[in-house]
Amino acid sequence: MTAERLVVVSNRLPVVLKRSGSDTWQITPGSGGLVTAMGPVLRNRGGMWIGWPGLASEDCPDEESLGRLLTEGGSRSGYALKYVYLDRDEIDRYYYGFANEILWPLFHDLFPQCNFDPVYWEAYEGVNCKFARCVVEHAGKNDYVWVHDYHLILVARELRRMGLGHRIGFFLHVPFPPLDIFLKLPWRFQILEALLEYDLIGFQTVRDRRNFIGCIRALLGYKVKGRGQIGSIIMNDREVHVGAFPISIDFKEFSDLARSGEVADQAWIVHANLPKMQLILGVDRLDYTKGIPHRLLAFDNALTRYPELRRKVTLIQVVVPSRREVEEYEKLKQEIERLVGEINGKYTEVGWSPIHYIFHTLTRTELVAYYRTCEIALITPLKDGMNLVAKEYCASSIEDNGVLILSEFAGAAAQLYQDALLVNPYDRQGVADAIYKAFSMNEEQRRERMRRLRNQIRRHDIIDWVDSFLRAGIAKGLDDFPLTEFFVPRQ
Ligand code: UDP
Repeated sequence: MTAERLVVVSNRLPVVLKRSGSDTWQITPGSGGLVTAMGPVLRNRGGMWIGWPGLASEDCPDEESLGRLLTEGGSRSGYALKYVYLDRDEIDRYYYGFANEILWPLFHDLFPQCNFDPVYWEAYEGVNCKFARCVVEHAGKNDYVWVHDYHLILVARELRRMGLGHRIGFFLHVPFPPLDIFLKLPWRFQILEALLEYDLIGFQTVRDRRNFIGCIRALLGYKVKGRGQIGSIIMNDREVHVGAFPISIDFKEFSDLARSGEVADQAWIVHANLPKMQLILGVDRLDYTKGIPHRLLAFDNALTRYPELRRKVTLIQVVVPSRREVEEYEKLKQEIERLVGEINGKYTEVGWSPIHYIFHTLTRTELVAYYRTCEIALITPLKDGMNLVAKEYCASSIEDNGVLILSEFAGAAAQLYQDALLVNPYDRQGVADAIYKAFSMNEEQRRERMRRLRNQIRRHDIIDWVDSFLRAGIAKGLDDFPLTEFFVPRQ
């Protein structure tokens, strides 16, 4: 038996649908690491991507037109796109409800923010079942199915109930919480048992994997063999492989773009407007897990305790709008803006304001120009599966002169801890001290650290991530899945 194709299943399809007239639609490719990584793999094998098109069925083109649009989008991308239609109620309860009001805060250790509404669970089961039905309809029996992230944990369980014997892999992009926190989940057994329906479960870090295994041991009592990166859970009739596969970025893309003329021009404009200053950069989606208010308070602390930083540093804080329709996110935005106003009010002098606040999405060129030009990156999430911004910043620091200040609770810290300045985002003074340390670091040290950071990310890039997951996913029969023919060779 050979694996025919790769079938990727994720909440969102890697395309954006936009109405361009009363009855006409445009389809454009989505961006992001997963698309970059999976695109060539899927193209090579004539694979398929299953997901939700991002709009409620009430606002989408009708099924026939949507099918046509996706065929067009698919032929442009080089692989098939299959959609799962979700109505507004399903989106409210499955996506905003179970995924974003329960699993998102719980898995980020913020369980007081969880709203354990039982209605959400029913919707989550229903929508996961819809995704599974779509897999059954479109996947061949020898295909390798790779399901992504916390929205779709139940897909393998539903597929098994439908009698599917496919090999199925799962990757969790967010952290997995420790036992004490996971225990709070009313559906803790269902979630663990559903995960065990996969053949391979991938986590971002060894710590996440360890947390998961701790829950399995305590709640289900299965034995586990192997330590470190990959191990297995021994069940009565089979083994489930469990591994740590830290996701990464397309290093080359960022590094090349950072060298381009357009980025150099933009970077020059930034520094010309903020002369004789070290620039500190924060880039985050609007989300309470990113610790933006904590960071602003730490910056305030640094300006108070180290007055020599005044007029010598500026914090450029980029906040990318996200989930604006959720009240809690709107409140967070107001809190951030209040703090920015307060800090700027406290320290601004003629010709200098401590914080430049940007609340919109940047173009890729603008983002990389900020990465390239800012001397310090201040990345302090309270908890983060990986944090790609940290890796993108290093890949774009082509002069090797940037300093990365990184939260110890970001998954990226497990790989970058030796050369980043690690901080506890809750420790205001500690973060302030790290800002001062970064500001004062000499050139030689900066270069040494940044060179090592860049080498680490260059070696473990996004292609390496896909490669290692798929190799582990077919460990039982390498010959079943001719991986060597699978990859576009690196340039
Ligand atoms: N990003 C973006 N537009 C912006 C700023 C950031 O597309 O204006 C991207 C950035 O390049 C990164 C992603 O958003 O790839 C954020 O990923 P990360 O893992 O840091 O956090 P997440 O938002 O996934 O929690």
